[in-house]
Amino acid sequence: MSKGIIFDVKRFSIHDGPGIRTTFFLKGCPLSCVWCQNPESISEGAQIVFHPSRCIDCGACLEACPGGKLDTTECIRCGACVDVCCTTAREVLGKMLSPGQVMNSILRDRVFFEESGGGVTFSGGEPMKQIDFLKDILHLCKESKIRTAVDTCGYASWESFDKTLENTDLFLYDVKHLDSDIHERFTGVGNKLILENLIKLAESGATIILRIPLVGGFNDNRDFFLRATEFVNELPRYQAVDILACHDFARGKYRMLNRELCCTIPEDGKLEEFKQILSSAGIYGSEEI
Ligand code: SF4
Ligand code: SF4
Ligand code: SF4
Repeated sequence: MSKGIIFDVKRFSIHDGPGIRTTFFLKGCPLSCVWCQNPESISEGAQIVFHPSRCIDCGACLEACPGGKLDTTECIRCGACVDVCCTTAREVLGKMLSPGQVMNSILRDRVFFEESGGGVTFSGGEPMKQIDFLKDILHLCKESKIRTAVDTCGYASWESFDKTLENTDLFLYDVKHLDSDIHERFTGVGNKLILENLIKLAESGATIILRIPLVGGFNDNRDFFLRATEFVNELPRYQAVDILACHDFARGKYRMLNRELCCTIPEDGKLEEFKQILSSAGIYGSEEI
């Protein structure tokens, strides 16, 4: 059976679909959005990261490193520096797990799902990047009558979507921008495939909550929201939309990866203004889903 690389698990989540949820974050994403709140999700393999604030300068990691340099460009991900670090200043992000291991973890939270109408959400990264694992774990969830959601950026082959349809109760689907050039400038890819998949997914009868990340200087303008309203209204069936305002909580993660977070937080009042545009068209909010 397949195995998946998971870099985080969030229990008792209330923002990743209805009810109380357990969210698994899978590694690997084909996009590189400038506002990404999970920059550690983008690379596919396990990563060794360093938390300077936890380091006591004991030197054990340097001694253990086969290359003797702790050099990220020459790192073979042997994990020796992590094993000897007694302060967890060095950490491996990404653990290889089988669907059975993930299922055992999911079943521990079953009682919360039953009481709240929740379930399990597979997020990332882009979970479709690990489609064989995703398909297998969705199948196991269905066998155990656990409700499932897939949080996707939409940039995947339709064949991958097709493999998830049978066992996914809900898709959380990002719509970031309707202009492909702007989309590419801020995320690294155009939006053609994403919008085509969304239309096919809506036509398939899948339940979808569209999610718009509100990012300053990218899509925080009235024109985009008016166009988005028209686009959503042309999709088959009722499609709910949520707006998620960008924030800078991930600055620490960027520091840990030796990178800079470049997102701009939207001005006060914009979130309410755009919610109002969607509400007037009867498409804001996912409470009915
Ligand atoms: S082993 Fe850990 S605490 Fe010691 S120098 Fe390396 S990172 Fe710092
Ligand atoms: S994972 Fe291995 S090769 Fe990479 S820095 Fe640590 S000890 Fe060196
Ligand atoms: S699609 Fe999501 S996970 Fe991927 S880079 Fe963009 S914000 Fe990050």
